[in-house]
Amino acid sequence: MSAPLDTIIIGAGTAGLAALREVRKRTNRYLIVNEGPWGTTCARVGCMPSKALIEAANAFHRRHTFDEFGLRGGEGLAADIPAVLRRVRALRDDFVQGALEATEDLGGHALSGRATLLGPRSVDIDGTAHATRSIIIATGSRPRVPEAWLAFGDRMLTTDTLFEQPTLGPRIAVVGMGVIGVEIAQALARLGLEVAAFTTGHTLAGLHDPAINAELTALLKQEMVLHTGAKAELREVPSGIEVQSGSNRVVVDQVVAAMGRTPNVEHLGLDTLGVPLDPRGLPAVDPQTLQVGNLPVFLAGDANAQAPLLHEAADEGHIAGMNALAAAPTHFVRRTPLSIVFADPQVAAVGQRLRDMEPAHTVTGTVGFGKQGRARAAQRNQGRLNVYAHAGTGRLLGAELCAPGGEHLAHLLALAVQQKLTVHDLLGMPFYHPVLEEGLRTALRDAARQLPKASDSDLAACTAIGVPALE
Ligand SMILES: Cc1cc2nc3c(=O)[nH]c(=O)nc-3n(C[C@H](O)[C@H](O)[C@H](O)COP(=O)(O)OP(=O)(O)OC[C@H]3O[C@@H](n4cnc5c(N)ncnc54)[C@H](O)[C@@H]3O)c2cc1C
Repeated sequence: MSAPLDTIIIGAGTAGLAALREVRKRTNRYLIVNEGPWGTTCARVGCMPSKALIEAANAFHRRHTFDEFGLRGGEGLAADIPAVLRRVRALRDDFVQGALEATEDLGGHALSGRATLLGPRSVDIDGTAHATRSIIIATGSRPRVPEAWLAFGDRMLTTDTLFEQPTLGPRIAVVGMGVIGVEIAQALARLGLEVAAFTTGHTLAGLHDPAINAELTALLKQEMVLHTGAKAELREVPSGIEVQSGSNRVVVDQVVAAMGRTPNVEHLGLDTLGVPLDPRGLPAVDPQTLQVGNLPVFLAGDANAQAPLLHEAADEGHIAGMNALAAAPTHFVRRTPLSIVFADPQVAAVGQRLRDMEPAHTVTGTVGFGKQGRARAAQRNQGRLNVYAHAGTGRLLGAELCAPGGEHLAHLLALAVQQKLTVHDLLGMPFYHPVLEEGLRTALRDAARQLPKASDSDLAACTAIGVPALE
């Protein structure tokens, strides 16, 4: 082996590219290696094509509101599924091109191939060993599909293949109703496909709050067949693929497996690091440094299975890129947890989860959007938002919601949680009229009623007028 490199980045997804940005500022003695297509999971098969599909689906779905608005002719609209998918791919290609530009000037620093660890300071890349002072592992994750289901061939879809299809359905099953399953099932149903969705548990979209989960479940049941609480089994029948779940049976043309994602670590040689591995084959990783034990090895992004979200992967790549070349790793303060599911109404979770809070020390403020003025004007008056606050201090701890404009409400709530604001602090802030944020204010007022009173000379104590159109 020649003189060691300063670092090798394994994986050129979001985490790998974020690490690369930091590494390039500090050294020229690095490699980045990627197996399979470059361009990142997010741009190729993840966040971006899924949102392009969802936008088409929601645009088409809006026709159901037209009559009430006084707009005629909506029933004459049709979803041209092949055209919808062509647009998704065209946009996707553009997003991927942008991601490819991040690595196109790297020359010999960028290698295509599979990297495998030979130890904490040595990496094999397609048969050649490379000595290195540090290693950044950012190998991402892939869809989980039961081995036996692969026998259904190209009728067994995942998000890796869904957007590549020339057309879809007309009968389609989505197995798994976590964050990805909910987004995809609703989008396909809204495009006019006959969707049957299955999930083993009773919670959808990763929700923890039973009230918000009940709201989402009821709303989705208006748009698709939804079976919860039993495992789905598949078998070939003359008319297609039969999905059986408990006493429910549905025959479909295609199945989308949305049963979670597996970190890409099993072929990485993590056993050569000499640290304990959990049943998934993962070592313990410090979330503030991304370091594995006290080794010069850093594990970032979906591959560490801590928070498989784009902004977290970017942060983790940044941390790993800096720490891999530092004399001693810096402990970074991580951001307030924030996750958004692009269902309609949008689903989001902010801050602490309900199960991690002490019920005796927590108050919940709630609002239903059924009568909320602005939501009614837009025919988007569905959903619920719960905020959780500390009963003693009034400090906002977190929130879960399934609410119109949820992505924006969730960001406001995340800012408030990270700034350690109280319910009264928030009620002292301006709320315009008529906006969806007034719904959030109603939930905050509900929480405030359960907290020690704010001073009468404080505008935070200003209560609702009691007229839905005015709040
Ligand atoms: C359908 C879908 C929708 C999503 N929507 C959202 C969303 O709306 N918002 C959000 O925040 N997140 C979303 N996500 C999650 C987000 O896309 C991921 O969290 C993020 O892309 C993870 O980035 P990463 O860098 O960890 O991994 P990746 O981008 O997957 O990169 C890992 C790379 O490493 C390569 N690799 C693997 N093993 C090796 C090896 N041994 N040697 C060399 N290279 C290797 C892989 O081929 C890949 O190119 C979505 C994901 C999916 C699938």
